[in-house]
Order: sequence, then structure tokens, then C-alpha cells
Amino acid sequence: MPAQSRRQVVLATHNPHKVLELRQILEPRLPGIDVIAYDGPEPVEDGVSFAENALIKARAAAAHTGLPAIADDSGICVDILGGSPGIFSARWAGPAKDPGDNLRLLLWQLSDVRDEDRRAHFTCVAALAFPDGRERHVTGIWPGRMLRAAAGGGGFGYDPIFQPDGHETSAAALTDDEKNGVSHRARAFDQLIPVLAETLGEVR
Ligand code: IMP
Repeated sequence: MPAQSRRQVVLATHNPHKVLELRQILEPRLPGIDVIAYDGPEPVEDGVSFAENALIKARAAAAHTGLPAIADDSGICVDILGGSPGIFSARWAGPAKDPGDNLRLLLWQLSDVRDEDRRAHFTCVAALAFPDGRERHVTGIWPGRMLRAAAGGGGFGYDPIFQPDGHETSAAALTDDEKNGVSHRARAFDQLIPVLAETLGEVR
């Protein structure tokens, strides 16, 4: 496709791992669209839901770059904790945002909780914002239960203590390809891709 007819979408994250992962998900399914990394100012994520925070990030990147922008916000939600850690997943054990401390605190909080009461899910909201103010968001849920000890050598964050429905062990025991086929992020971006294709068509 000639360079002048290609369109660009900016990915509102400073996390290089996420840029890579989402490029791999989006680019093959959206030929003609270049996903570029955002390096502008990061907004304060003071929303009270995954959707608000994803939209705050997408709006800021769209306003700064003048391009359509996508962002996501995700976390683990434990039923018996009323949906917490939720939007506080990254800093559950404090401002250091240490994944090991987060995981150990959550395990300890759930130590007396019975097997049948350990339901949980990962949530991901993927948001799309245009410089003209239009915006959309979609939600992906990955259901499962909290384990009693960490298992598996891969993944990140809470993966070692989350057992997805339909699997015998933790999300950290899945390969990247397996996880990226079923995760909350995959489920959110599966829904966002047709929205992206349709709305980018309109602004051509
Ligand atoms: P973010 O909004 O994608 O940056 O995710 C916030 C936090 O949620 C991360 O720091 C992790 O603690 C947790 N989290 C989100 N997605 C995952 C996942 O796929 N596996 C494990 N932890 C996750």
C-alpha cells in the first residue's frame, strides 16, 4: 500500500512490552494501519473505573498527537474482595508497584477463603479516542479462580496465582501464544478491531 494512503493509530502506553504485544495483535488484522508508540506526556489516571482510565489515556494521546489513539487499562478483580484489587492492581501493595509484593499481599488476604469462594477475573478495557472528540470503549473479561500458591514460570503480574477457567494450572503456565489467544486483553482487542476498522474508514 502506498505510504500516503496508510493510516496511523497511536498506542497510548509508554510500556514497550505492551506496544510490541499490541502491534502483534493489531497489525496483521488491520492491514494499512501503522501502530505507533506514544511518547508525549502521561495524564494522571484518576478515573474510578477501568473504562475511565483507558479513556483518559486515549484522549490525552489523541489530543497531543492529532491522531486516533488507543489505550487499555486492566487488572485482577476478586469476587470476595468486592472486585478489588481492580483499578488498583498495579499498586495493591504500595507505590513501589512491586509485582511480587502485590501477589504475596493478595495471597495472604485470601489465605482463609474457601476454594468455592475464590472466583476472580481479569478485566481489560480497550479505548479508542479521536482528536475530534469521538470515542468508544469495549471490555474483555477472562474468568477463573485464585490459587493458594504461585505456579508456572511465565506471564507477569498476578498470572502465577490465577487459574483461568478451562485450565488445570495458572495463567503463568501458558505460553505467550496460548495466553494471547484467550486473555482479557485478547478478548477486548478482538472487539475493538472491527470498531477501529469501521471508524478509521470513516475518517479516511
Ligand atoms: P495495566 O493497566 O495493563 O498496566 O495493568 C495494571 C496491573 O494489572 C498490572 O500491573 C498487573 O498487576 C495487573 N495485570 C493486568 N493484566 C495482567 C495479566 O495479563 N496478567 C497478570 N497481571 C495483569
